[in-house]
Amino acid sequence: MNQVLNYQKYKKIAVMGGTFNPIHNGHLVAAEFVRQELGIERVIFIPTGNPPHKNTNPMYNEHRYLMTVLATVNNPHFEVSRLEIDRQGYTYTIDTITELKKRCSADCKIYFISGADAILQILQWKEPEKLLSMCEFVAVTRPGNNIKELEKTVSMLKDKYKGKITLIEIPALSISSTNIRHRILANKSIKYLLPSNVEDYIHKFSLYQAEDITSKEIEKIKGKLHSILTSKRYKHTLGVAQEALQLAKRYNVDTYKAYLAGLLHDCAKCYTNKEKLELCKKYNINLDKFLLENPELIHSFLGAKIAELEYNITDFDILNAIAYHTTGRENMSILEKIVFIADYIEPNRDYFDGLDKIRELAYKNINTAIIFALENTMKYLKNRNIKLHPLGKKALMYLKEEKNE
Ligand code: NAP
Repeated sequence: MNQVLNYQKYKKIAVMGGTFNPIHNGHLVAAEFVRQELGIERVIFIPTGNPPHKNTNPMYNEHRYLMTVLATVNNPHFEVSRLEIDRQGYTYTIDTITELKKRCSADCKIYFISGADAILQILQWKEPEKLLSMCEFVAVTRPGNNIKELEKTVSMLKDKYKGKITLIEIPALSISSTNIRHRILANKSIKYLLPSNVEDYIHKFSLYQAEDITSKEIEKIKGKLHSILTSKRYKHTLGVAQEALQLAKRYNVDTYKAYLAGLLHDCAKCYTNKEKLELCKKYNINLDKFLLENPELIHSFLGAKIAELEYNITDFDILNAIAYHTTGRENMSILEKIVFIADYIEPNRDYFDGLDKIRELAYKNINTAIIFALENTMKYLKNRNIKLHPLGKKALMYLKEEKNE
């Protein structure tokens, strides 16, 4: 469906950019508040299409768009655009703003409203300096955000790149899309967190249920892994993906991302050690002395690169979860911890001493589970005169210090 966009009559418009998976009352309150505060005439909600920085389930694109339409239908100042949903390939904000500018009068001021977490990563977006010169940014914060830290980044962007960024705290953003998805999975009510017509839509199409971890993208990945991995390794891979999904539900993490990371964690296991070394050289992956002496650990670091190049994974958190799934590292993200521990406990794992304990701990306290797992591995390796990789030692020290704080 091609929309004809024409904003010639406006002097101040705002783009409300986001995944909106799903849209909720926090987004609506934020858009309305900013509209009134800044005297904006039109707020255009633009659900992301295929963003370069994350892997969203493509089957949800149309749902996300339609839910955004339903949510905004009562506000005469709001509208929804298909600009990004309909764009082929990756969708970059710079292209969206360039497209909009063509449809606005020359003196129209354009604002871009989005979550502070997203906007303050702007230097990693496409053509950030140009973007900062084309529109003003409104980064809405939610309770719990570290405002001092955000202010520091804002002033750096102002000083260095002359960007205009306003931080606005929106208490209603204590609602989050992630939390809504997890409430649905846990069979909890989502009433009053989002407009009732969006709630009805979610129930009507049974959105955000566990079975949603099927998509063309996932099926394609599974097909490829099935053809390159041994059947035992493939079975293990499916087990890790499923375990990561369960852990993601437990720890309120995006289940789709956890499933994808679990699925791809061993994607480089199909290579011989010689091939792994050659590929690392080809892709400029630095291997330390330890890895050169223990090439069986290389598959995780190489796997992250293969996931990026051959499976089109762009989400840094997924790529890091693959890279560090065997060694761990200091200050792991929750997704990294999930894949690390899912690899230990997935249901097809051959039994080893301590497995039941790790399985039990994993769902109680993931940090304690990782400490137990790393210490267990250390004991196992010591008996074979092998040391733990330095990254694993650091992970262990970090988690223990954190526990004692
Ligand atoms: P995200 O990772 O889904 O969200 C990051 C955080 O911001 C989450 O806490 C999210 O909360 C919140 N958030 C997102 N959109 C929001 C909004 N409109 N109002 C209030 N909070 C919001 O971020 P994203 O949705 O992918 O990206 C946000 C925007 O930045 C999109 O328009 C995207 O296209 C753009 N972006 C562009 C590039 C690029 O051009 N290279 C790269 C990254 C992002 P909820 O989950 O509750 O929404």
